[in-house]
Amino acid sequence: MTQQLETTVCIAGGGPAGIVAGLILARAGVDVVVLEKHADFLRDFRGDTVHPSTLNLLDQLGVGAQAKAIEHSELSSLDAVIDGIRLKAVDFTTLPAPHPYVTLMPQWDLLTLLAEEARAQSSFRLVLEATAQSEIQENGRVVGVKASTSDGPIRVTAALTVAADGRDSAVRDSLGLVPHDYGVPIDVLWFRVPRPTKPMPDTLANIRGGSALVTIPRPGYFQCGLLIRKGTFPEFQKAGIEAFRHTIASIAPRLTEVTAEIGSFDDVKLLSVQINRLHKWWVPGALCIGDAAHAMSPAFGVGINYAIQDAVALANILVPALRTKGTDAAAIDEACAALQRRRALPTALMQRMQRVAHRLINRATRGVVLHNPPQLRERFVIAVVLPRLRPILARIVGYGFRPERIARGILRPRA
Ligand SMILES: Cc1cc2nc3c(=O)[nH]c(=O)nc-3n(C[C@H](O)[C@H](O)[C@H](O)COP(=O)(O)OP(=O)(O)OC[C@H]3O[C@@H](n4cnc5c(N)ncnc54)[C@H](O)[C@@H]3O)c2cc1C
Repeated sequence: MTQQLETTVCIAGGGPAGIVAGLILARAGVDVVVLEKHADFLRDFRGDTVHPSTLNLLDQLGVGAQAKAIEHSELSSLDAVIDGIRLKAVDFTTLPAPHPYVTLMPQWDLLTLLAEEARAQSSFRLVLEATAQSEIQENGRVVGVKASTSDGPIRVTAALTVAADGRDSAVRDSLGLVPHDYGVPIDVLWFRVPRPTKPMPDTLANIRGGSALVTIPRPGYFQCGLLIRKGTFPEFQKAGIEAFRHTIASIAPRLTEVTAEIGSFDDVKLLSVQINRLHKWWVPGALCIGDAAHAMSPAFGVGINYAIQDAVALANILVPALRTKGTDAAAIDEACAALQRRRALPTALMQRMQRVAHRLINRATRGVVLHNPPQLRERFVIAVVLPRLRPILARIVGYGFRPERIARGILRPRA
């Protein structure tokens, strides 16, 4: 038998966008149901960066101290080593207190914390192992979703349905919304290696001899990402794991002693990098946020942050509408349109910046980026241009183009 649930807002997807939206809406007293297809939040690496604007948000929600108690590391700058020359590309210490750094913590731990916080609200329901499949329509308006669960089918009716089910969003597809794809020339191969015995300074990007390796410092290990030309993973597999280990060691020689820990290609996950976004984020009764509306590249690690910013903006716009006009359909649709108006430009600007970064990386993998020792023009860029750019980049990367804060009066006292 089909189980029926009724709510004000039904959110498909319990990732950063869905859980944060659910939490803030519930804290505002709005009845919310979040459907998450997995049984918990523990899954493959999907990015661990928590940017200063998200750290500020955690403080606003009163969970900053609990988040800080999760095992994490803090990065106060993003350094790159290009053909042997170390450059400080982004310096977060130029940002104001209390969070002049990016935190790296397991995404599943943070989501578990936020979901627990949300569950403390009587207006919040999280249904795990519930896969949203398609929307329910009535008179040309979306009025909820159908989902399959381990206990059988479920039907959730809602005044607003939010697709926060990620870059392969099934709900977005069922709404007939198709994102515009901006071709990306690179893929990333993610894997981890233990930290070498000789301490290595925190370095985000290593570029050498036309190859680029990201090394994200984590307690006890490095989360690494090798940037490759799109579609060339099979070539790496064909060349074998020993050749792969050799490639890693040649880009980051300090990792040579630990590359043997990459046992086989089972330890290496392919991320097909995408940049896309919807032309229209909503239809009457339903809205897409986070990766469902705009898949971000891992460049600058802002995907999680941008998904969360959508969630905050949604709450800031929707809650006043619900409080003044109830579940009036026109008011809800106007809130969806307003959300898109607010978030489309910062998203487009960040995606533009990511595309420029891809072009630079692509160029870097074809020839010399920086001479060692640097030539006169390069010395000028390093000594004069970069120091002026650093604080600007810190703001853009740390906060995004339009940072969101929960508006005054939205949150009710914490349960
Ligand atoms: C390998 C990898 C590395 C990345 N690295 C970084 C990084 O370092 N920093 C960064 O900021 N971003 C990174 N990203 C991007 C980042 O993960 C996303 O931008 C961000 O998670 C988007 O959040 P979201 O909530 O919109 O979607 P997601 O995080 O994708 O969450 C969607 C949720 O919906 C659930 N779901 C999916 N389909 C359904 C359905 N039909 N019904 C119910 N639930 C469903 C999923 O299980 C998931 O929990 C990375 C991504 C990948 C894949």
